[in-house]
Amino acid sequence: MANLQLQHLDKIYPNNVQAVYDFNLDIKDGELIVLVGPSGCGKSTTLRMVAGLEDISAGKLFIDGRDITTMPPKDRDIAMVFQNYALYGHMTVYENMAFSLVLRKENKNVIHQKVLAAAEILGLTDQLNKKPAQLSGGQRQRVAMGRAIVRTPKVFLFDEPLSNLDAKLRGATRREILLLHKKLKATMIYVTHDQTEALTLADRIVCMSMGYVQQIGTPLELYDTPANLFVASFIGLPPMNFFEGRIQNGSFKCDDFSIKADGRYVEILRPYEGKAVVLGVRPENVVSIDGDTEAGNDKETVEIEGGAVKVRISLNENLGQTTLVHGTTGKNRIVCKFREWCDYKAGDEVRVSFDRVHFFDKETTNAIR
Ligand code: ADP
Repeated sequence: MANLQLQHLDKIYPNNVQAVYDFNLDIKDGELIVLVGPSGCGKSTTLRMVAGLEDISAGKLFIDGRDITTMPPKDRDIAMVFQNYALYGHMTVYENMAFSLVLRKENKNVIHQKVLAAAEILGLTDQLNKKPAQLSGGQRQRVAMGRAIVRTPKVFLFDEPLSNLDAKLRGATRREILLLHKKLKATMIYVTHDQTEALTLADRIVCMSMGYVQQIGTPLELYDTPANLFVASFIGLPPMNFFEGRIQNGSFKCDDFSIKADGRYVEILRPYEGKAVVLGVRPENVVSIDGDTEAGNDKETVEIEGGAVKVRISLNENLGQTTLVHGTTGKNRIVCKFREWCDYKAGDEVRVSFDRVHFFDKETTNAIR
């Protein structure tokens, strides 16, 4: 177990592509950090710099206070689990898990104990004599994790470990990783492009875009107080609805409706008088005021001019407990997530309000708060 400091890390590839800019993070002992962002944002590059598989162009990396910026990967005491498992097909599960320890010339009894203990943790005890080809995708991924566990590394790195699994198995294996983290209490860095994995697994999320860290925080912080438009649109599913408008006489006005700034918004929006801002509303914060869906009492409500925003419905998607209702408020599209079964038809109109809103500076894209 270990703590890590990533200080001002830059990565410039030999072809002059800068993949990571000034990455800073202190990781506490036993923390599970998830790096999340779209493809190409620099997540894997950051992970590979920690593993020592890529040189660090600038900045410093410390484990337990020791500078390992230029240390070769084999000396770093870090284990990495990849998405393609990289198991040896001709070896049994047992041999795959034992392999790194055999290379290290560990004592045979020690190896045996470690493999059995890891197999027990991962529920692989009955599979030890099988070859990888005889296993399911989920079991193979567990063997790959077992190979990391037997080494009792200081840090576990996961590079999109679930992306080769089908949706059902992805959920199950994700929960196994969470339980594994609780059992091992190990420091882990986990890379994914999937915001659900980030929200469900992370102690803290690092959200990245185009090589830059956009926000670091707990899942709730990123969901509830996104730092900018990028994080607001990336975290949360379906994504947040956005409406471009202006602050005029203390109200937010867009093409389709106006919201009176009251309560805490009066102060925070005052400096934006006359300026372009973006209103953000999560689908789950859109509430019907025509009866069937009620805003929770503990939520803030927003004063909308005329009492409601009118949504012209284009599509009704029933998900069981909730319904996704797609439509327009005029010029803007909107997705509403209502907490019950609805049977709207295309062309129906529903009047809605919002029980939580976010404002962003259109120019800087930063949250206004
Ligand atoms: P992610 O893991 O978020 O998908 P990567 O870290 O793999 O992103 O890539 C970040 C950027 O660096 C991308 O623009 C990618 O094309 C570039 N890149 C990755 N590996 C190399 C490489 N070996 N040489 C040059 N550019 C690379």
